[in-house]
Amino acid sequence: MSGSALRLVLASANPDKSREIADILGAEGIEVEARPAGVPDVDETGDTLEDNARLKAEALVQATGSAAVADDTGLEVEALGGAPGVYSARFAGEGATYAENVAKLLAELDAAGASGPGERRARFRTVALAAFPDGREVVAEGTVEGTIALAPEGDGGFGYDPVFIPDGSDRSFAAMTRAEKDACSHRGRAFRALASALAGTLGS
Ligand code: IMP
Repeated sequence: MSGSALRLVLASANPDKSREIADILGAEGIEVEARPAGVPDVDETGDTLEDNARLKAEALVQATGSAAVADDTGLEVEALGGAPGVYSARFAGEGATYAENVAKLLAELDAAGASGPGERRARFRTVALAAFPDGREVVAEGTVEGTIALAPEGDGGFGYDPVFIPDGSDRSFAAMTRAEKDACSHRGRAFRALASALAGTLGS
């Protein structure tokens, strides 16, 4: 970016995601500002990750008058026909905890008889979207392929991290440092792609 650094208000109030996004975009020279207190959560009513990312970013632009950035992420499990996908946050029901979602995922794979690594293929997909007060938007996607572990492993990360082993590693995301996860994760890839698309769009 030329001149002063680009600054984006972050739509997510989830501290786990926010930390990752601030680190990833910070390394690309983009400053992230926390969502102002008092701006309510947006219902994720879209049918796709991109729809939900757009809903969240546009709501922030409306509320703040500033450029905003949002992401939406889904875990797509082959043996479950791509589920939970866009419904990953509420896989075990509205307001489900991370542990409840992971337990349901492992139970569904057991029920499907998917016990070997080849039957437990999965992918994380993130759509990152920046929206501007003049109506412009920039969208990018990042994915990472891997397998669902037989049992949770590791104390780091969040969400489905304890059971997701990215290809090329023998450890789950939850057993990695944040920097190791960011280097190969869906979110790292999506936000680094977003940063370079923003540089191309806004001029660097
Ligand atoms: P959302 O993007 O906040 O809607 O995330 C959807 C669901 O996927 C939530 O249950 C998150 O916990 C989970 N999730 C999102 N990103 C990650 C990740 O990087 N690792 C593991 N789980 C994630």
